[in-house]
Amino acid sequence: MKFYNLKENDEQVSFAQAVKQGLGKNQGLFFPKTMPALDNIDELLAMPLVERSVKILTPFVEEDLNEQELTEIVTDAFNFPAVLQPISNDRAILELFHGPTLAFKDFGARFMAKCLQAFVAKDAKVTGQKRPLTILTATSGDTGAAVAHAFHGIDNIRVVIMYPKGKISLLQEKMFTTLGDNIETLMVDGDFDDCQALVKKSFDDNELATTIGLNSANSINISRLLAQICYYFEAVAQLSRAKKDLGDIVFSIPSGNFGNLTAGLFAKAMGLPIKRFIAATNLNDTVPRYLETGEWSPNTTVATISNAMDVSNPNNWPRVEHMLKSGIVESDCVSSVSIDEEQTQSTVIGLSKLGYISEPHAAVAYKALQYNTVDGEIGVFLGTAHPAKFKDVVESILGQPLGLPKELADCAGEPILSKEMAASFADLRAYLLA
Ligand SMILES: *Cc1c(COP(=O)(O)O)cnc(C)c1O
Repeated sequence: MKFYNLKENDEQVSFAQAVKQGLGKNQGLFFPKTMPALDNIDELLAMPLVERSVKILTPFVEEDLNEQELTEIVTDAFNFPAVLQPISNDRAILELFHGPTLAFKDFGARFMAKCLQAFVAKDAKVTGQKRPLTILTATSGDTGAAVAHAFHGIDNIRVVIMYPKGKISLLQEKMFTTLGDNIETLMVDGDFDDCQALVKKSFDDNELATTIGLNSANSINISRLLAQICYYFEAVAQLSRAKKDLGDIVFSIPSGNFGNLTAGLFAKAMGLPIKRFIAATNLNDTVPRYLETGEWSPNTTVATISNAMDVSNPNNWPRVEHMLKSGIVESDCVSSVSIDEEQTQSTVIGLSKLGYISEPHAAVAYKALQYNTVDGEIGVFLGTAHPAKFKDVVESILGQPLGLPKELADCAGEPILSKEMAASFADLRAYLLA
């Protein structure tokens, strides 16, 4: 299957090229030329995660990866479970945080890393030489950790992660700055926007980009979204094992850049029986306002306790909009609601009274379900991060201490290996070329 650029439709590339390139011309997003329809859904749902995921992903990647290669990649990438936990009779959380960095981003980042590794090796075989590849990413937390762990130890791929000095929690910082080897981390004297601006400048610098083979590994990369389709199938598989009558399934998705929603819509378009989606946002409510008024008018980003969703210009929205407008999914299958800080906190408390310790992102999605579902609907909300990743916030809301899972405890005692850098493009350029 080919992928085409949603802005410059003539640009059509293979899966491998789309993964290596990230973005198309004119900053356009890649999108599959056709949406594969799976007609054997019941059979698929009965399979184990890895086997089923290979079947789901095959039509997208078969030009570049054969069945054995894809199976190896998926087996490696999805080596941890997605767990559906019932909260009440008609509500359940899909826990996506059982991977190495305790956030759903592990699914996409690990799949992307293994795909790139395979493509770099293939290119080297064809050309007889190893071309450099540098992943350059700015992070305010979860992305850096997922990308660092996914690419750690992969030959011939250099990873450089920038983050704002003093602006992320110590535990978050330890999760990606203590690995070493091919993972280099830069502590930038500035804020997250400065880091992002430095990434952008690097990509605009053609000479630099080609010399070091730049790639960004952020959630605009189509490989990350394709991987995420698979856990929607897993959720429905687990639901159908638990319940005879599935009813109407509604997914509520805590949304920032809307990659998770995009993947859910892919799953629906491929035939997974999902009735509709609720895109739950925090105070950064560009999308809920847009769906109500038809006007796209992002406000200045505000900081919230669900900080991974502090995004006012979500970069995957063009993909969602395309699917709604072109009839790939029903135009009314997405609604969106904004949840404020007070509601988020009281929902963390409400869930703990039901015996479930959550964190702010999942709480936003649960609250949106409470507002929005009707009798006969089964609501599944996504648990995008482990509560311990937001330990301070959760402890202060609940007034009780949280334990540290092994993944966090392991890195807590390790030294931070970051280099400090001014927010200067000249300095970054020199560093990257050295
Ligand atoms: C990245 C992230 C989100 C937002 O996901 P999108 O796909 O960008 O909408 C939500 N919750 C957590 C914990 C995250 O890390």
